[in-house]
Amino acid sequence: MTSKGSRTNAVHGGTKRSQWGELSEAIFLTQGFAYDSAEQAEARFLKSGPDEFIYARYGNPTVAMFEERIALLEGAEDAFATASGMAAVNGALTSCLKAGDRVVAAKALFGSCLYILESILPRYGVEVVFIDGGDLAAWEEALAPGATAVFFESMSNPTLEIVDIEGVAKLAHAAGAIVIVDNVFSTPVYSDAIAQGADVVVYSATKHIDGQGRALGGVILGTREFIRGTVEPYMKHTGGSMSPFTAWIMLKGLETIDLRVRAQTVSAKAIAEAVSTHAKVTRVSYPGLESHAQHALAQRQLGAGGTMVAFEIDGGKEAAFRFCNALEIILISNNLGDAKSIATHPATTTHQRLSLEQRADLGISDGLIRLSVGIEDTDDLVADVLQALDAC
Ligand SMILES: *Cc1c(COP(=O)(O)O)cnc(C)c1O
Repeated sequence: MTSKGSRTNAVHGGTKRSQWGELSEAIFLTQGFAYDSAEQAEARFLKSGPDEFIYARYGNPTVAMFEERIALLEGAEDAFATASGMAAVNGALTSCLKAGDRVVAAKALFGSCLYILESILPRYGVEVVFIDGGDLAAWEEALAPGATAVFFESMSNPTLEIVDIEGVAKLAHAAGAIVIVDNVFSTPVYSDAIAQGADVVVYSATKHIDGQGRALGGVILGTREFIRGTVEPYMKHTGGSMSPFTAWIMLKGLETIDLRVRAQTVSAKAIAEAVSTHAKVTRVSYPGLESHAQHALAQRQLGAGGTMVAFEIDGGKEAAFRFCNALEIILISNNLGDAKSIATHPATTTHQRLSLEQRADLGISDGLIRLSVGIEDTDDLVADVLQALDAC
């Protein structure tokens, strides 16, 4: 079969139909599988083929459909679906690391990713070095003694700085390290991470893949050898597998992800443009604006600005709270990638646990607002943001 476009793959990729020929993907809500004979059970435990299942923690037909569909979209050889985004991040790292290994990571990370790298891995004898992910010279220096893996978020949370996947991958590969990229903010729609040099890509499927706020999930993508040889044995024995019901939600999410994310991006750009001239806004970070320090890199790496916008309001926490409380359509929450637009005040929520110095170092000021732009009408969203800014 000739290769298909990503929207075709998002709708049809990986579909397996039962004898009933159901149009929508079936949910196989089963933990186990019955065998025709004792001989068949023995053979399957010896070596099971791609459409042969043993136990839902090892694999399930609905989960396999999701894995095949997301692998097609990402341009990866294979995928393993996980119970949450954090199960994916932990699985990708822990399955391939051992005592004595060295990891170089960008310091601007989602809080739970930071916890794994800063607090868990060192307990098992893994050395972790944190650097400024946007600084290629810092990567080169930190990688000079050699490393087993590098880890970074390709677009940082919440300040939306871009890490150059191609540039870091070249340095990492020269140092003998595998490149693990948390690509949530870039989304599978704009990602070309594997072609750009990433060895392993992880997503929290909770975000744009579900896209409608229903379920936690995650996925690890990479070569067949890495996914089936390294990740699968770790995940299937440690219990972080995705449930069939969640896989069905994520399959349905993938059907519309391209439409949603592109619509969200149009509105995100409109909001970023509108706030950039507002008197109460002191700084705007949106990779799709020419004023973004890495606009050219964002264009090369993603071809778009994405669905998130960050901006700083004059007047610190009080003004930021007045802004959030004045919003009429946009909801106050800490999630992202949802069909519903969401405003977050990182300093008092997602990044509350960081010290003042750490927050200052990462550019998370008390006036910073992070918007996850949804699929509502662009004009309504722009108007809501501007009226809330006028009110603060
Ligand atoms: C949300 C998120 C995660 C964790 O995903 P969960 O599904 O909440 O476990 C990891 N990395 C990034 C960048 C995220 O935004």
